[in-house]
Amino acid sequence: MESSYTSSTWEKEEESFEKEIRPKNLKDFKGQSALKDKLHVLLGAAKKRKESPCHCLFYGPPGLGKTTLASIIANEMGSRLVVTSGPAIEKAGDLAGMMTNLEEGDILFIDEIHRVNRNIEEYLYPAMEDFSLDLLLDSGPSARSVQVKLNRFTLIGATTRVGLISSPLRTRFGFTSRLDYYPAEVLQNIIDRSSHILDAPIDTKASLEMAKRSRGTPRIANNLLRWARDYAEMHNHKSIDLSVMKKALKMLEIDEKGLDEMDIKILTTIIDHHEGGPVGVKTLAAALGEEDTTLIEVNEPYLMMLGLLKITLRGRQATKLAYEHLNRPYPSQHNDGEIS
Ligand code: ADP
Repeated sequence: MESSYTSSTWEKEEESFEKEIRPKNLKDFKGQSALKDKLHVLLGAAKKRKESPCHCLFYGPPGLGKTTLASIIANEMGSRLVVTSGPAIEKAGDLAGMMTNLEEGDILFIDEIHRVNRNIEEYLYPAMEDFSLDLLLDSGPSARSVQVKLNRFTLIGATTRVGLISSPLRTRFGFTSRLDYYPAEVLQNIIDRSSHILDAPIDTKASLEMAKRSRGTPRIANNLLRWARDYAEMHNHKSIDLSVMKKALKMLEIDEKGLDEMDIKILTTIIDHHEGGPVGVKTLAAALGEEDTTLIEVNEPYLMMLGLLKITLRGRQATKLAYEHLNRPYPSQHNDGEIS
């Protein structure tokens, strides 16, 4: 009882925190300028023609703004946003029910679209192309198919694993864009904006240092700010300066490159138990007691971006930089492997 109360309270807090700081328009969506420029054209032209924009696919690591962009697009178009996710669509009927309820111009956002079951995915093809659904009624000899007309809508898909999306689905999106990790200066802007909204003053040195430790990810930047605000409040500091920020992040075991406990464990396991690699991702995940998909989607892209990890044909390998970062001697006869 106690724990369910606590978790729902936490979820509500999380929801209201998200709601407060999530940008509502392109102007407040920091960075990603090339993508914003294209969206400006796409949305502007659709508005001029009084039509729905084409279906859009956003991909990239979690926390970079895919959901935020979907809500901004709905906002800019003055459309209703209907939100679901791949794992939530368990049967074709779930999807059909949702689609037949869409009104003209609605935006349907499917998060983790790579997790939509292949059989269900096939219903998306005519829906995206011709705004129609082919529904199968009954089964066996009396089975017949009826075509249901849908209102025109825009599908926005988000995924952390674009490689897992089938090509028939991928090609039905008129606009596809990758979201990249954010540079520290942009994350600093995001932290400054959130600090105003949350009334949690932070000085420039602290916000820059916090930005550098945010793994290039706005969601992490905002979470670190929220943690530092709580830390400052508990220690009676009126604002967050560099020393408060460092102490707060030390408690979370986040180092100066933004690596957290799991990142460090990944690298130390490769170095200490697998002689620096190569080691397969499943073996690594089992040794760490973590899902391999989490390693693939969350940890590895950042470790690779920092040049601490390499993915070779034979598995994961720690780089010389990783040895240096962890203060381990780099073996002279280290096997460098091939990059896949
Ligand atoms: P994703 O869907 O890619 O996992 P979200 O869209 O949920 O990521 O973004 C996570 C949080 O980060 C959001 O609450 C939003 O406030 C913030 N955020 C993401 N991108 C930006 C951005 N470009 N500018 C400002 N805040 C952002």
